[in-house]
Amino acid sequence: MSEERTAPSNFIRQILDNDLAEGKHSKVVTRFPPEPNGYLHIGHAKSICLNFGLAEDYNGRCHLRFDDTNPQKESVEFVEAIQRDVAWLGFEWGGKTYYASDYFERLYHYAVELIKLGKAYVCELNAEQTRKYRGTLTEAGKNSPYRHRSVEENLDIFQRMRAGEFADGTMLLRAKIDMASPNINLRDPAIYRIRHGVIHHQTGSEWCIYPMYDFTHCLSDSIESITHSICTLEFEDHRPLYDWYLDTLGVACHPQQIEFSRLELQYTITSKRKLTQLVEQGLVEGWDDPRMPTIAGLRRRGYTPGSLREFAKRIGVTKSRNEVEMGMLESCIRDDLNENAMRRMAVLQPLKVILSNYDQSKVEELNVANHPQQEAMGKRIVPFCSELYIDKADFLEVAPNKKFKRLVTGGEVRLRGGYIIRCDEVIKDAQGEIIELHCRYDPETLGKNPADGRKVKGVIHWVSARHGTPAEIRLYDRLFNHPTPDAAKDGGDFTDHINPDSLRTLTQCVVEPSVANAKAGDGFQFEREGYFCLDREQVHGKPVFNLTVGLRDSWAKIEKKG
Ligand code: ATP
Ligand code: MG
Repeated sequence: MSEERTAPSNFIRQILDNDLAEGKHSKVVTRFPPEPNGYLHIGHAKSICLNFGLAEDYNGRCHLRFDDTNPQKESVEFVEAIQRDVAWLGFEWGGKTYYASDYFERLYHYAVELIKLGKAYVCELNAEQTRKYRGTLTEAGKNSPYRHRSVEENLDIFQRMRAGEFADGTMLLRAKIDMASPNINLRDPAIYRIRHGVIHHQTGSEWCIYPMYDFTHCLSDSIESITHSICTLEFEDHRPLYDWYLDTLGVACHPQQIEFSRLELQYTITSKRKLTQLVEQGLVEGWDDPRMPTIAGLRRRGYTPGSLREFAKRIGVTKSRNEVEMGMLESCIRDDLNENAMRRMAVLQPLKVILSNYDQSKVEELNVANHPQQEAMGKRIVPFCSELYIDKADFLEVAPNKKFKRLVTGGEVRLRGGYIIRCDEVIKDAQGEIIELHCRYDPETLGKNPADGRKVKGVIHWVSARHGTPAEIRLYDRLFNHPTPDAAKDGGDFTDHINPDSLRTLTQCVVEPSVANAKAGDGFQFEREGYFCLDREQVHGKPVFNLTVGLRDSWAKIEKKG
C-alpha cells in the first residue's frame, strides 16, 4: 500500500487489508460501473472516489465499465459525459474503457451453459402472469408451468429467441432457483429479454435479446478479474443472486460484493431518474445547469475536482444512512477557493461615484494583491480614475446604526486597494432614486492612514466606470426548499419543492478589467461578495459569472429558520 492515502481507513479498507494479508489476492481490482442513461451526480462522485481511490492507494486497478444492457435509455452522449466527468475528477482508467456489451457473446454462452446445467428455462408467461406467480414478501411464489421444459427444448427456443423469431415480451429466459425463497430476487429471476428494433449505442442492431443487470454485472466483474465489487446498499439483497450465478457456472474468478450506504445530500436529489425528469421537463436548463447536483453542473458552478475529492474524504464510507448537509459540500469548495482563488472586484448593483477633486484626464494604475495572505500569487493592476462604481448596498444617506461601516452622506470610507473618499453630495432622479454620488478623495491616503489620525473603518470594493467590463452575474440558491425533496411526506411530487428563487440574474454588473482575460471555469473571489466562476457562455457579448458559494455558511441560518 502506498503511503499517500486518499481517505482514512474504513470497513472496506479493512477487508482489503485482510485479503491482502491472507494472500487471497495480490492486487486489488475495483470497478466503477455506471449505466450510461444520464449524467453522473454527486453520489456517483462518492463511488468514483472510493473505487478509484482504493485502486490508487493499493497500487491496483480500477476499471471504468459501462453497464450498458438497457439500450433504450442509453446514449453516446451519456457515455461521453461520464468519461469527461471521471477524467475531470482526476482519475484515469488505463486507456481502456470497458463495456458490458463487449461481453454479449460470452454472456450468451454463459446463459446456454446454465440451460445445459438445467439451471435456466424459457418461460412464456406474460408480464401480468409472471407478477402473479412471483408471490409477495409474505407469500411464496408458484412454479411457472414452463419450468420443466427439457434442456433440448430450452436450447432450441433460446437460440431462436436470439435469431429473432419471437416478439417482445413473449419469451423470457429465467434462472431456475427457488420460487419459495424468502428473497424475491431468487424467485427464478429473468436472465434474457427480447427487445426488437432498438439500436444499441455500441452493438447497433446486432442483438434482439438483452441480458438483465444482475446476470450481466457479476459475470462482467468475473471476466475482468475484479477482486472487490463495491456497490450501494440496495444491492445487498441481490448479493445471493450475484453469488448464485458465479457459483452455479463455476467461474474461475468470483469477486466479493461489498455494499456501502449511498450518499444523500440535503436540499437536493441524487436519483438519476429524477434528475432526468428535471431536464426533460425543462425545470432546469440542462444536465449542467449550475443548480444541478451533477458533476457537470457542479463544475459549471465553479466546484473544483479537489473540492469534490475532499468532500468524499470528509463524508467517509459506512453502512449506515448517509444524509449529508449541503453546508458540508459548500465548506469543501469554500476552503479550496479561500486558499486558491484570486481576489477581484466586481460591482453587482452599480452606483456611479464622481470624484470632483480628481483630475478628469488622469488614470492611475494601482497595484493590488491577488490574495491577502499568499504573496506568491502576486499583484494585478487596477485602473483608478475620476469615475467609479460602488455597490448600491454600500451607500445610505444616513447610517441606520453604528454598525454601518459603509459610505453615508458626509462620511468617509476606504476604497479597497485605493484612497479614502468622502461623500459630499447625493444626486437623485425625478423619482427620488439615487443615481450618482459626488465625492472627494484624499490624495494622502493611498496605502496609508490619514496623517491627522482620523479613523476610517469601512472598506468597500469598487470598479473604474471607464475601464470596468460589463458582466452578467447569476446568483444561485438551493434548487429545493425542502431538506429531503423526494421523501417529503405531503403526498406531492419532489418537483413541488423546487425553490422558485433558485436563480437571480443581475444584468448590469461591472467587473474589473483584469477579469477579461479569464478562461471559462476560472474561479475568483469577488471581494465582499462571494466566489464566482466564469461561465462557458456569454450573453450579448458580456461575460457571465456564476456564484459558486458565498463567503460564509448560509445554511446554518436556513436550518434555524426551519
Ligand atoms: P441512480 O439511483 O441515481 O439512478 P444508479 O445506481 O442507477 O443511480 P449507476 O449508473 O448504476 O446509477 O451507478 C453507478 C455506480 O454509482 C453504482 O455502483 C452505484 O452504486 C453508485 N451510486 C449511485 N448513486 C450513488 C449514491 N447516491 N451514492 C454513492 N454511490 C452511488
Ligand atoms: Mg444502478
